[in-house]
Amino acid sequence: MPIATTNPATGQVLKSYEPMSSEQIDAAIDRADLAFRDLHRTTVAQRAQWMNAAADLLDAERDDTARLMTTEMGKTYAAAQAEVTKCATACRFYAVNAERMLADEPADATAVKAKRAFVRYQPIGAVLAVMPWNFPLWQVMRFAAPALMAGNTGLLKHASNVPQTALYLEDVFRRAGFPEGAFTTLLVGSDAVDRVLSDPRVRAATLTGSEGAGRSIAQIAGRELKKTVLELGGSDPFVVMPSADLDRAAEVATTARCQNNGQSCIAAKRFIVHTDVFDAFAGKFAANMAALRVGDPMDADTDVGPLASESGRDEIHAQVRDAVAHGATVLCGGEKPTGDGWFYPPTVVTDLNPQMRMWAEEVFGPVAGLYRVSSYDEAVAVANGTPFGLGANAWTTDPAEQERFATDLDAGNVFVNGMTTSYPELPFGGVKNSGYGRELSALGMREFCNTKTVWVGEGAATAGAGAHAE
Ligand code: NAP
Repeated sequence: MPIATTNPATGQVLKSYEPMSSEQIDAAIDRADLAFRDLHRTTVAQRAQWMNAAADLLDAERDDTARLMTTEMGKTYAAAQAEVTKCATACRFYAVNAERMLADEPADATAVKAKRAFVRYQPIGAVLAVMPWNFPLWQVMRFAAPALMAGNTGLLKHASNVPQTALYLEDVFRRAGFPEGAFTTLLVGSDAVDRVLSDPRVRAATLTGSEGAGRSIAQIAGRELKKTVLELGGSDPFVVMPSADLDRAAEVATTARCQNNGQSCIAAKRFIVHTDVFDAFAGKFAANMAALRVGDPMDADTDVGPLASESGRDEIHAQVRDAVAHGATVLCGGEKPTGDGWFYPPTVVTDLNPQMRMWAEEVFGPVAGLYRVSSYDEAVAVANGTPFGLGANAWTTDPAEQERFATDLDAGNVFVNGMTTSYPELPFGGVKNSGYGRELSALGMREFCNTKTVWVGEGAATAGAGAHAE
């Protein structure tokens, strides 16, 4: 895949880059390794000052950055502006909270026959971050802010279609005051990932991306015995039960499916509706979807911009055609537009069955599948019936049902009467083929820390150390 900015609204290639040479990659890894030796000795307060400065730069440069993101991957300008602001907020959150998240945790010294015992969280070194284009700033920031605050250094291999956003990120951290090498963008294709992750100076990797990329990186990391965090695909269920507020559910369902032009891992993709309210919900939802305005992502009136790539649009259209060929009914959308840009209309498909690709595959665009169920148990079975387990949404006003969904939905998060969103305050990640490990919150920060047990004895002859073999 070429490393280039191609405007998805026009198909025009605006800027191309040569991939970094082997020597350039080596030098970048070296700088990251050297920077770590300095960075991990700086105080949290010093790093917080730099992180706050990064937040200020993001805020001050929001509109230009948002325009760049829209030009590179097609999200609406308003959504891009909100993404920049969210990144600034996350930087400030980790600047304020890192001290607490990294503080030593005392243990019961008496129980382990010590004078003092505690857990200390320490950074591990240079971490490779392989990132996707769909939230080109936020996906990176939710790794970078906690990792840098912990004292790690970052090597970013961003998606090949967002090179300018990738370079901007390096520039922001540098101008904010972080030492050279603390955060470096590697302009490389995915074929360079093996070489970077195999380097002994690179200690771990985090990937947000597809299942295929996850398997590939997990294999390399397995061979090299390196820690990974994998945030992979999802086909999140959105369950609607009879007690739900249907107007509100249909409104949120529309946003949950079509935000970011339908290209979000945590977009609701499968709408599982109780038969008692199926027709009412389907009517409202399809009407909302059909009313969305598709067009120029820079236009303030646009709800849904183009897909990020032509191949992405071809893929979702093939999934829709496959469903129709196997007997699905299209309630709205479903036709590929002609003309420039990789636009696709918000689409609702029903009468689905397990022979269709859509039944268990992720659909990465504004296409919703509607499933009819006749009981709570069937709703849970359909919701859990894919290889994924990233997010899950359930709509019900029955408190007992809310509790049951929270337990029974097999996903990394469950949002009741809402849509899945990531917050710096809450852990984020999946189960099953959606990956493992967590980003965000203290858990995310500690993924790339050495959780070190420290045991301190009297120093004189005591019964503590050496009493056991392991
Ligand atoms: P992708 O093709 O997997 O690309 C993601 C990143 O991985 C890019 O930097 C890509 O580089 C790289 N990559 C691709 N194949 C690789 C390989 N075999 N080895 C090493 N690196 C590889 O994913 P995408 O199509 O851009 O993004 C959409 C997918 O990401 C969806 O499945 C979506 O659900 C998932 N996603 C998950 C989350 C989450 O938090 N769980 C968030 C957002 C997106 P190139 O660009 O150079 O190919």
